[in-house]
Amino acid sequence: MGNSTSIARRSKRSWSSLANPFSQAPPVEKSPVQRPIEKILIANRGEIACRIIKTARSLGLKTVAVYSDADRNSLHVRRADEAVFIGPATCPLLPSSTLLVALEPMQSIPAAISLMGDKSASKKLMSGANVPVVPGYHGDDQSHELLQSEADRIGYPVLIKPVLGGGGKGMRIVHSRDEFLDSLRSALRESAAAFGDTRVLIEKYIAQPRHIEVQIFGDRFGNVVHLFERDCSVQRRHQKIIEEAPAPLMSDDFRNSIGQAAVNAAKAVNYENAGTVEFIVDTATGDFFFMEMNTRLQVEHPVTEMVTRQDLVEWQIRVANGESLPLEQKSIPLQGHAFEARVYAENVPRGFLPAAGVLYHYNPPTASSTVRIETGVEQSDAVAGLPTNIHFLKKLAKHPAFRAGDLETQLLDFSERAKRDVKSFAALAAVGVCVRESFRRPESRTGGPWHTTSGFRVNNPYTRKISLDWMPESESLSCEPMSLDVTYSSDSEFLVKIHLVSNTAKRVASSGCDITVDINGISSTISYGYYLQKSAYHIHV
Ligand code: ADP
Ligand code: MG
Repeated sequence: MGNSTSIARRSKRSWSSLANPFSQAPPVEKSPVQRPIEKILIANRGEIACRIIKTARSLGLKTVAVYSDADRNSLHVRRADEAVFIGPATCPLLPSSTLLVALEPMQSIPAAISLMGDKSASKKLMSGANVPVVPGYHGDDQSHELLQSEADRIGYPVLIKPVLGGGGKGMRIVHSRDEFLDSLRSALRESAAAFGDTRVLIEKYIAQPRHIEVQIFGDRFGNVVHLFERDCSVQRRHQKIIEEAPAPLMSDDFRNSIGQAAVNAAKAVNYENAGTVEFIVDTATGDFFFMEMNTRLQVEHPVTEMVTRQDLVEWQIRVANGESLPLEQKSIPLQGHAFEARVYAENVPRGFLPAAGVLYHYNPPTASSTVRIETGVEQSDAVAGLPTNIHFLKKLAKHPAFRAGDLETQLLDFSERAKRDVKSFAALAAVGVCVRESFRRPESRTGGPWHTTSGFRVNNPYTRKISLDWMPESESLSCEPMSLDVTYSSDSEFLVKIHLVSNTAKRVASSGCDITVDINGISSTISYGYYLQKSAYHIHV
């Protein structure tokens, strides 16, 4: 989540006027006296590194930033007391030789991190610890035949997830058996590239879920508390966009039982530190299931801090210093309501393409008792480009479903659905092109909104690609050219395929430009009209 700025709002209470959040409750067990922490190495960057520096400074601790060639001039490097160069821009966030050596003495923490980093292992463990998990397959046997038969057993739709996944990468929804192997292969390709691992798990895909996660905290005396939940259902491609605390429209009973399940999950791994237990809630049944545990302080922690009036980085430092948790469960307040929106440098109309460039103008709202800004950038930083998602976030905040608290993770997929409709129309238009071409030689075609590329013939049938340019009428649709595969099986019959939509078209010989088209199994007769206007070739469907 580098190069981002997030803004959290809270009503009434002031961030700077935290009432002493750290009670003097005696530790559950006497801890061996530790040498107090004097300096903190921050193995991260961006706004979260800046966030840690803020609290460390307020506690009189020194900080050490790490940087690569890519973030040599970043804000976190400027803000820290010291900065250490750890390698070229391509190095991973935690280069093993340099930083893991420093982590080694913290045995229990890396054990929980690696266990929870494995989505399959953690789910097996959770099923044994009284934490409900999504029905699925979490096994070691990764043969394609077995994965397919497990998907059949679970029942479609299913979700394929990389075992070591993160950030929504490599996940594929599979709607039916015949899509499974193609989706598996593409999930494996993406997972190999992103995580260097090709193990996957398969679970039941919950059609209208809410993503509710619980902030938990553990100390070395075995105490675990939760700091209530965040609703992170507003997502795009499985990545969070707006987070809020507490979750809207949630009963106290539900809050208590999901909080307790999160505490059980953390206890099952003797967890010490800040963590987040993510649950998926089936809005149809009200059931909730463990999804994964994130063993770190997350980008969205400020909404929790705003409603509980705690400084979670301070909690982390105290716990790491050998102190017990600052508050008991029953003393943790929950007051007010907070939202966090993630501002990214990305080009929304162009399919949320990440943008890069110089940040010429940066004018965030003024921080106040109700507005909080966490940022990893400053004006004139060479990290963020001009286009941002701010307009998109504003539209989202005004969306009636969002305002009503009627959240589910597919909220933003309305645009995905619209895209699918567009794809159906594009496929129909492609049918029109192909039918028209059966009267003309493909080579003689010119101009218009259509290009033909790489039509090749391998005996019969042959497949060619048609790429279609189109203009979006709505900003929520991308305007990337659409690529269609056309396979001719006979003179009058061919198959047009776009991801998720497949149309078989057969020309009805008797009626000129009427064509029988089979769209995903539903047959209809479509009339096509062809005309030339302003020297462009048009097809009217
Ligand atoms: P990541 O490590 O990428 O965060 P998660 O397992 O947390 O992976 O899943 C990311 C998102 O994908 C969730 O927030 C949720 O929106 C969606 N998701 C995960 N599992 C399911 C499921 N079984 N059914 C429906 N959606 C799911
Ligand atoms: Mg997750």
